[in-house]
Amino acid sequence: MKIINELYINGKWQTPTSGQTLTVINPATEIPCATVSLSNSVDVESAVLAAREAFKGWSMTSAKERADLMNAVANEMGNRYDDLVDAHVMTMGCPKNIAGVFHVDCPIDAMRYYAKLALQMEEVEEKGSVLILKEPVGVCAFINPWNYPLHQLIGKVAPALAAGCTIVTKPAEQTPLADLIMAEIFHKVGLPAGVFNLVFGHGRDIGPILSGHPEVDMVSFTGSTLAGIEVAKTAAPTVKRVCQELGGKSAYIITEDADIAAAVRYGVEDVMGNTGQTCNALTRMLVPSSCYQQVADLATQVLQEQVVGDPLDEITTMGPMSSKRQKETVLKYINQGIAEGAQLLAGGIEMPDKVQQGYYVKPTIFSGVTPNMSIAREEIFGPVLCILTYDCIEEAIEIANDSEYGLSSAVFAKDKASALSIARHLRAGQCYLQGSYFSIDAPFGGYKKSGNGREWGAEGMSEYIETKAVICG
Ligand code: NAD
Repeated sequence: MKIINELYINGKWQTPTSGQTLTVINPATEIPCATVSLSNSVDVESAVLAAREAFKGWSMTSAKERADLMNAVANEMGNRYDDLVDAHVMTMGCPKNIAGVFHVDCPIDAMRYYAKLALQMEEVEEKGSVLILKEPVGVCAFINPWNYPLHQLIGKVAPALAAGCTIVTKPAEQTPLADLIMAEIFHKVGLPAGVFNLVFGHGRDIGPILSGHPEVDMVSFTGSTLAGIEVAKTAAPTVKRVCQELGGKSAYIITEDADIAAAVRYGVEDVMGNTGQTCNALTRMLVPSSCYQQVADLATQVLQEQVVGDPLDEITTMGPMSSKRQKETVLKYINQGIAEGAQLLAGGIEMPDKVQQGYYVKPTIFSGVTPNMSIAREEIFGPVLCILTYDCIEEAIEIANDSEYGLSSAVFAKDKASALSIARHLRAGQCYLQGSYFSIDAPFGGYKKSGNGREWGAEGMSEYIETKAVICG
């Protein structure tokens, strides 16, 4: 069992002052895999002050200096690849054979991607006698969820470092290991003391200290909409920048003239990836009534390819839910779907076959789902796909937009041009056409209650930049 009894503050490993610990459970075995010493307000205070002090020097480094360090970090992440994979296997139950592709490759690429963008910080725009400069926003506090621990961390840390910001980060209670490894990596490559600080703790305890702190210039939060609202409220009196990356209930429109087999495979695999614990998962599949039976048959067939089981077994494609709490939430929704009259095409509330322990749920598909059912409106955050039908494309667009969320969406039509004409009507921060996948270049973030910021791409770096106008007369 891993014992984490130090925090990383001001370039040093420090013993937290709270004396309290938290146990991390391996969700595949239900056995503790780590204990973490928790931070309290004293630790958070010293982390924020270290970041404030370090900002003076780090914000004045050349872009090349920062880029060189970030490239060294990417190289070291490559050296620690297996440790990063194991962190996801142990704390999330992600199958080992896919954990690298799902959780580690993109963060390494992202570190190099933003190292290149660091150079843009030195570009000066001239408009007559006005010079427009880019400057780092300052001390940033990051609060992250457990579903993509490294990906979420690097999606914030890489652009922040490139811009010249300093950082205090708090991982989710369930997944502290990836952050710990990153602190070791930053230490090893010689990131100046105080630029990256790591604290551990419960969101309700230390989250408000971070988001309300007057020395924190920006808070970037990824997690549930409810907690995101709390963060924004706590941040408001200090008028800091708030970036919220929140929940989703994304719609996926398949048209009658699409390649139905390819479209259905893409949709089912999208929802089942990462055991359904993906904020932008396309959990509402909207299909023409005329194709319903074909879609239902295909979806059930594709679902049967999922191998649920031990994350260490090479053939496993789907591990457990990340926590007991998450498993209970998913089962509650499956029961609710049945009670509301949706038809259970596959899956259900029983333990998957051949699994005796762990927080597993069966990959599940509901058909006959109507837009007002809670399983069509609320984020389940598990491997549960809802199939809804429509009679004309205007109705499909209306159903897709009838959500308090607007994180992502997708369209599979006859061709890209037809899909794009539908995409333009969808109120969501992203739209995936014709079975496409995540790209670092694509700004990621929500409309409506899915959030107000953008991560990834050049826009993801803009969040960490202040604009200064110098008027030369
Ligand atoms: P959560 O809101 O319970 O926890 C997320 C983080 O917030 C954790 O670190 C937690 O400790 C902290 N937290 C909890 N309450 C807090 C408070 N009052 N103040 C400050 N911090 C607090 O969410 P979760 O269940 O861990 O994560 C799942 C949610 O995250 C889903 O809704 C999912 O859609 C969302 N998510 C969104 C994105 C995105 O980019 N939009 C990405 C991943 C996950």
